[in-house]
Amino acid sequence: MAEIWNCVLKELRRAIGEDDFKNWIEPITDCSIDGGVVTLTVPTMFSGEWISRTYGDKILRLLRKEGPSIHRVAYRVAPSEAATKSKQETEADDGRGKISNDTMFGARLDPVYTFQSFVVGKQNEMAHAAAWRVSQDDEVEFNPLFLYGGVGLGKTHLMHAIGWALKSRNPDAKIVYLSAEQFMYQFVWALKVGQMMEFKNKIRSVNVLMIDDVQFIAGKDSTQEEFFHTFNSLVNQKKKIILSGDRSPGKITGLGDRIKSRLQSGLVADLHTPDYELRLGILQHKAKIYRQSNPKIVFEDDVLDFLAQRIRNNVRVLEGGLKRLVASTSFIDYRITVDIAQNILADILNESYKKVEVEAIIEAVAEYYNMKVSEIIGRRRTRNISRARQAAMFLAKSLTTKSLPEIGRSFGGRDHTTVIHSLKRITELRKAEPEIAEDLEKLRRIIEA
Ligand code: ADP
Ligand code: MG
Repeated sequence: MAEIWNCVLKELRRAIGEDDFKNWIEPITDCSIDGGVVTLTVPTMFSGEWISRTYGDKILRLLRKEGPSIHRVAYRVAPSEAATKSKQETEADDGRGKISNDTMFGARLDPVYTFQSFVVGKQNEMAHAAAWRVSQDDEVEFNPLFLYGGVGLGKTHLMHAIGWALKSRNPDAKIVYLSAEQFMYQFVWALKVGQMMEFKNKIRSVNVLMIDDVQFIAGKDSTQEEFFHTFNSLVNQKKKIILSGDRSPGKITGLGDRIKSRLQSGLVADLHTPDYELRLGILQHKAKIYRQSNPKIVFEDDVLDFLAQRIRNNVRVLEGGLKRLVASTSFIDYRITVDIAQNILADILNESYKKVEVEAIIEAVAEYYNMKVSEIIGRRRTRNISRARQAAMFLAKSLTTKSLPEIGRSFGGRDHTTVIHSLKRITELRKAEPEIAEDLEKLRRIIEA
């Protein structure tokens, strides 16, 4: 059974994403089979219900792929907690039961997400400073702290880091961390089983409440209303609240004005997409950790530099790339070179590339050489203009995934043979004239920044 379950876990992780996997699936402590029924041991009744509701079908399908005789999945609460309950098993759609301490489910804090493991750079220093401040203050000076930024930029990491720091300063503090989805689900569930009072009391009894990705609450009126009340009463009781969202509170659509202004009333800090330097810093930090755990791992030449230049999406992709690279080089003794990285990470590298548009390249080149965009894509063929035009085509070819005809079209409807000619010309020039090579390198950095 363990083997089957491991296969299922692997597939599930891929299908539902790292965050949800960590929040819900990882806490499953056991998987057993009896007849055609697979029983999963979950930490709380609430999590069992959630898993069954959200992932039940998927889990069953994956199980059946490995063991066709399996026809049902049951959920059972881990004995230590179940001992305090009268009912030990909770079946898929059984929503009865009380919200007890155990079912008031805060997701676990990830031990990896601490301040020590968070690399600070220009794009996140404000958010980091704000998070640190909140984690060190006993007074509740800024409430709430609202962290916002795009996907994979470190919001969840910082929230967990605050949680750990607060815990280490005050081990008895009741710190509850929930994704907005978990919050909503608990709310809906409490409503369904007529436990609203318990839910409210429960959530209002915490010392620190952290809710991640609050944009998911937007537009869900009743949850929003409850969220707002909870929020107000916690603020009035001077309890710490830390929230995150994918954009600033004012820009979250479907959020009532009252909530918006409340959310803005504390400290709002944003995280930006990391630049090359921060990307390199993060890679170096993670590489060091890999090497500490296995000194055989060697990142040769400029491999980290190469990755920092080429993976520009967000930290999660960067980190995932490095992880995959390490995992897939075990058979060659972890000698990781640029060539190997290029091979193994081709998909991520290409995806990153698409982000640069030919138009942006043309603009950058025009500005660099002090020309107008219309000159670059126009017909004039003075030496300077031709040179700049060819350089821009060359960069378009190497920094985007556009085809030669597509590039030609972006340059005032030129033929693909013209593009080929330009590429040849610049390739030659780059070897012959160091200044050209330097210009191209500078331009590449500007465009990719
Ligand atoms: P978000 O919640 O903003 O979508 P996460 O906090 O989940 O992003 O971050 C995605 C991944 O990137 C996590 O594994 C996190 O540890 C890592 N990460 C993000 N920013 C940093 C940073 N500045 N230093 C180290 N790791 C980071
Ligand atoms: Mg997150």
